[in-house]
Amino acid sequence: MPTQKERLAQWLRDAHAMEQQAETMLSAQASRLDSYPELRRRIEQHLEETKRQAARIQSCLKQMGTDTSATKDLAGKFTATMQGMGGMFAGDEVIKGAMAGYVFEHMEIASYTSLISAAEAAGETEVARVCRENLSEEKAMADWLLGHLPSVTQTFLRREESGGPAKR
Ligand code: MG
Ligand code: FE
Repeated sequence: MPTQKERLAQWLRDAHAMEQQAETMLSAQASRLDSYPELRRRIEQHLEETKRQAARIQSCLKQMGTDTSATKDLAGKFTATMQGMGGMFAGDEVIKGAMAGYVFEHMEIASYTSLISAAEAAGETEVARVCRENLSEEKAMADWLLGHLPSVTQTFLRREESGGPAKR
């Protein structure tokens, strides 16, 4: 049976794989968004945050004397690539993408909420602090996406009806 610290390390590796997946998804989304500059800028901002989050987790694992799992990271990247491609075939790519992004942020929120608790239980206060930092960025991104979904939707609908650049 794993110790609390071993379990924590495993969950940190999972979170690292999740951030790798996020990085792939966000960079694909940002590069494809031609006609929604505000959304694109926010995604690019979160892409930079995501890279820092992955690095923070990496340093937590190092501190705990372990490392990330390359296999898992690769699997996550593949999944993210497939998800990104799924949205490309939809005429409402921007809407599907924004909704998928919102869902993904909540997966991250749940992960860090659990990780914070696990880190506290294991007495790893620095890990808990890092996870709180990541958590607050995920919450801010989720709030932003939800707050902007109505206006993005209306822009999409207006453009679609008038033959403007609606899809992405
Ligand atoms: Mg993240
Ligand atoms: Fe995120």
